[in-house]
Amino acid sequence: TIPGVNELLQYKEKSKINEHEDENKRKHRSLQESRKTLPIYRFREDLMNAIRDHQVLIIEGETGSGKTTQLTQYLYEEGYCEPDTENVEEEEEEEEEEEDYDDDDNIKLPNGKKKKEKKMMMIGCTQPRRVAAMSVAARVAEEMNVKLGREVGYAIRFEDCSSERTIIKYMTDGMLLREFLSEPDLASYSVLIVDEAHERTLHTDILFGLVKDIARFRPKLKLLISSATLDAEKFSQFFDDAPIFRIPGRRFPVDIYYTKAPEADYIDAAVVTVLQIHVTQPLGDVLVFLTGQEEIETANEMLLERTRRLGTKIKELIILPIYSTLPSDMQIRIFEPAPLGARKVILATNIAETSLTIDGIHYVIDPGFCKQKTYNARNGMEALTITPISKASANQRAGRAGRVAPGKCFRLYTSWAYQHELDDNSIPEIQRTNLGNVVLLLKSLGINDLVNFDYMDPPPMETLRLAFEQLYALGALNHKVELTKLGRRMAEFPLDPMLSKTILASETYKCSAEILTIVSMLSVNNSIFFRPKDKTLLADTARQGFFTPGGDHLTLLNVYNQWKDTNYSTQWCYENFIQFRSMNRARQVRDQLEALMERVEIEIQSNPADTIGIRKAICSGFFYHTAKFSKNGMYKTVRHQQSVLIHPNSCLFDQIPRYVIYFELVLTTKEYMRQVIEIENEWLRETAPHFYKTKKLDDDNKVKKMPKVLGKIKAELERNYS
Ligand code: ADP
Ligand code: MG
Repeated sequence: TIPGVNELLQYKEKSKINEHEDENKRKHRSLQESRKTLPIYRFREDLMNAIRDHQVLIIEGETGSGKTTQLTQYLYEEGYCEPDTENVEEEEEEEEEEEDYDDDDNIKLPNGKKKKEKKMMMIGCTQPRRVAAMSVAARVAEEMNVKLGREVGYAIRFEDCSSERTIIKYMTDGMLLREFLSEPDLASYSVLIVDEAHERTLHTDILFGLVKDIARFRPKLKLLISSATLDAEKFSQFFDDAPIFRIPGRRFPVDIYYTKAPEADYIDAAVVTVLQIHVTQPLGDVLVFLTGQEEIETANEMLLERTRRLGTKIKELIILPIYSTLPSDMQIRIFEPAPLGARKVILATNIAETSLTIDGIHYVIDPGFCKQKTYNARNGMEALTITPISKASANQRAGRAGRVAPGKCFRLYTSWAYQHELDDNSIPEIQRTNLGNVVLLLKSLGINDLVNFDYMDPPPMETLRLAFEQLYALGALNHKVELTKLGRRMAEFPLDPMLSKTILASETYKCSAEILTIVSMLSVNNSIFFRPKDKTLLADTARQGFFTPGGDHLTLLNVYNQWKDTNYSTQWCYENFIQFRSMNRARQVRDQLEALMERVEIEIQSNPADTIGIRKAICSGFFYHTAKFSKNGMYKTVRHQQSVLIHPNSCLFDQIPRYVIYFELVLTTKEYMRQVIEIENEWLRETAPHFYKTKKLDDDNKVKKMPKVLGKIKAELERNYS
C-alpha cells in the first residue's frame, strides 16, 4: 500500500467523528437553551421550594408551558432520584451480591453522576394517552442526551421501554395502576406526577384515590397533580386542601369565527376551510381536530386530491396525521418545522387538545366533535360514539392557535350552538364506562369496599352493580363478592375480564397457544385486512380465502398461523392484502401475553385441530355475548333480547347458525355483531354454569337469576348512594 494512506484514512475517520460530536453538542446546547424559554422556567425555584415544603401540590398551567417535559427533569436535577437514605443498610447487603457487576456498564448521566443499579429512586409521570407517554419520553431523553429506554423510559400496555436504570418514567395511567399489583406502596418512586389530571380518565380517577392513600403512610413521597384547565380547586379539595401552584401561561389573543348555519358534513367543511386558509391567509400552520383514524384518513385523501387539482397555483401544503395507532416514526414528523414557504396542516384527534403541544400553530379548525366511550348501564352495552365536545374543550382547542402569536380559530358550528348546545365540562369517564376491569384490579389490591372507595366523583350505582354481576358470572367473585382464585389469576392480564377469562379457560381445553393468538389478533382486529379502493375485488377475494369453518376467530387464527409459517414475511402480507403493521403489533401483544402465562402457571399447549375446544374456551369468557337466531330473520341477544345482525364482513354472514357468540357490537345503520363464532347450545351450560339455567336449555336459554347476595349488594349500594 502507498505509505501514508492509512494515516490519512484514519485522520478522515477521526474528523468525521469529531464533526459528529460537535453536531451533537451543538444540538444539545440549543435544546438546553430552548428549555429556558418555556414559561415554567422562570418558576423553577419557586416550584422546587413549594414541592419541598408540601407533600401534595396541584400544578396548573396552560398547555405548552413545560409541565410534562420539564417538571421531571427539574426534580431529577434537584436530587429527587437520590437513593432513599433510610434504606442504606439493606442496600449494603445488596452491594455484596453485586460485586461482579460490570462497572463500565454504568453510563454517565449528564451531570457526571453514575446511576447505581436499583438504588436510585424513580420519578413517575402518568399520561392518559399512549402516544403522549411515548412522545414526551422521547423528547425528554433527547433533552437529557440519553438513549430512550435507559435513564428515561416509558411504559404503555404491551410495551415496556424502560430498564433497571430508568429514573424518569413516563407511563399511561393504566400502567401505574397495574404497578400497584407488584408494588403496593410504589416504593421505587420518590415522586409521582399525575399529569393531565383534567382529562379525568377512569384510570386517573382511580389513581387519585390510591395515591392519596399511599401518600399518608409514605411521608417522603411527593405527589404532584398537574392539569391544564381550571379544575384546580376541585383537585385541591380532594387532596385535603393541597396548595395550588399556578404557572401563568403566555397566550396571545385568538379570534373566533363561527359558521352561520350548522354544517351537514363537517369533514368536507374542514377540508374546505383548510384550503381557504391556505389560499387567503398568511403562512402559519393549521391544526384540525377530527374524531379518529378513519376521519383523518378521509380528510387526508380529500386534501391530497384537491391540492393536486390546484397544482402549482398554490404553495406547498404538508399534510400530517396524528392519532394513537400511528407508527412512532410518523408521529415524530408532526414536530418537524415546515420547510421555508410551505405550510403544515396537522390532522389530529383529541390528543392535540392538551396532551401534545405542536409549535407554530396559527390556525385551528374545530368541528366540535370527539369520540367518546358511552356505557348503557341498563344493558351493559359499551360503545364509542361521536359526541359534541364541551365548552372547556372548545376553549382548549382554540387556545392552541395563540401560543406563538395571535391566531384564529374556525369553529364549524354556530355561535348559538356553542352557547346552548355544549356542556360546560365533559362527564368524567368513570361515570360512562364499564367498570369490570377496574373492580377486578381493586379487589386484587385487597380493596374490598368499593362502595366507599375515595372517589373524586363516584360511579353510578348501577354500573358498579353490573360489574359485580359480570365478575360473579365469570367466576372471578364468589357469593360473598370476594375475589376467587380464578379472579386473582384473571387480574394478572391487562385485558378486559372476558378476554382474561378466555385465556384462563384455554388451560381446560389444552389450546392456550391458539387462544393467545386469537386474543392478540382481536386486540388489533379492525385493521388486519387491507382493502385499497382501487383493488376492492382482489382484496375481498384474498380475505375470503382465509375464511375458516366455525367463525371469524378461527379465521384470524388461520391468518396468523399462515403468516407465522412464512417466518413473519412482509411480502406475504403484501400479496395477501394483510396489514403487516397490524400483524406485527399482534405478534408483539402475543409475546407479552405469553410472558404473563408463567405468572398464572399455564403451560403453552397447541391443539389447532380442536376447533371445538378453542370455541369452548371463547365461550367461557364471552357467554354474555350470545345471540340466538329468531323467527324474524334477525338474531336476538340472549341477555337483553336485542335484535342484531351478523356483520357483512363476517365469514358467517351468509350462513345461519342457530347460536353465535360475538366479540363486539357495532352500531352503524343497524346493530351488527363483529367477529362471530358458531356455538352449540350445550356449550353454554358447560362453560358458564353460573349464568345459564341448567334445565330447559333447549327450548329457551333463559339466564339464571343472580343469587340473593348480589341482591343485597344492590340494597347496600342504594343505601350508600341515597
Ligand atoms: P405542557 O405539559 O405544559 O403542556 P410540554 O412539556 O408538553 O408542556 O411541552 C413543552 C414544549 O416542549 C413545547 O414547546 C413542545 O412543543 C415541546 N415538545 C414536547 N414534546 C416534543 C417532541 N416530541 N418533539 C419536539 N418538541 C416537543
Ligand atoms: Mg403536558
